[in-house]
Amino acid sequence: MKPKFIVLLGAPGAGKGTQAEGLSKTLSIPHVASGDLFREALAEGTELGLLAKSYIEKGELVPDKVTIAMVQKRVAASDCEGGAILDGFPRTIEQAEALKRVLTEEGKSVCIVLYIKVSTETLMARLGGRWICRNCGAVYHSLFDPPKEAGKCDKCGGELYQRSDDTPEVQRKRIDVYLAQTAPLIEHYRSQGLLVEIYGDKSIEEVQPDMLKAIETSC
Ligand code: AMP
Repeated sequence: MKPKFIVLLGAPGAGKGTQAEGLSKTLSIPHVASGDLFREALAEGTELGLLAKSYIEKGELVPDKVTIAMVQKRVAASDCEGGAILDGFPRTIEQAEALKRVLTEEGKSVCIVLYIKVSTETLMARLGGRWICRNCGAVYHSLFDPPKEAGKCDKCGGELYQRSDDTPEVQRKRIDVYLAQTAPLIEHYRSQGLLVEIYGDKSIEEVQPDMLKAIETSC
């Protein structure tokens, strides 16, 4: 079967991570999230993690060179033979071109770019209420998807925390950075005939079938 490399595009808070988790389970291909890779590197105290920290805390993008090298290594791993759901990468035109180069070298390609379109009001509300399990990474929202017991993960009982870059100031900055550096990817991929727009201002359960239908048609 042809490998499925699926790119999820959308502003911070559009639901890329949550949707990617669901798609990864349904399609049995890994969820590759560049933000998670940076946070893992940070937790391990590696040089990459320390470098990324200063950018993440300000809501800015980590430089292309290190980001591309990190993702290139991840998609070359054997579990990505059948493809991957790319969440948060590419975020610049340079990253998109690098991704194309890397996949082409292996006779692979991106089969679809799903652009999750969400209003600014929804983005701010979603990011502000986001809580994550320190143990298993499950994501909750204090308004839209609260845990049964405040501060505790329903799935594993782990402690829930808020990302330090989910504060209102950093959120604003991340949205501005998205508009300036990542939004141009919408037209970039549209002109290549790869872009499919997904209406994201609705519940997780309602968005997922729209995505699966588009993937079935294109991949
Ligand atoms: P995320 O978890 O996708 O919201 O990413 C958190 C932060 O990690 C971003 O605000 C950036 O600082 C950094 N980051 C994640 N992915 C990328 C990327 N593709 N290029 C540059 N920086 C990134």
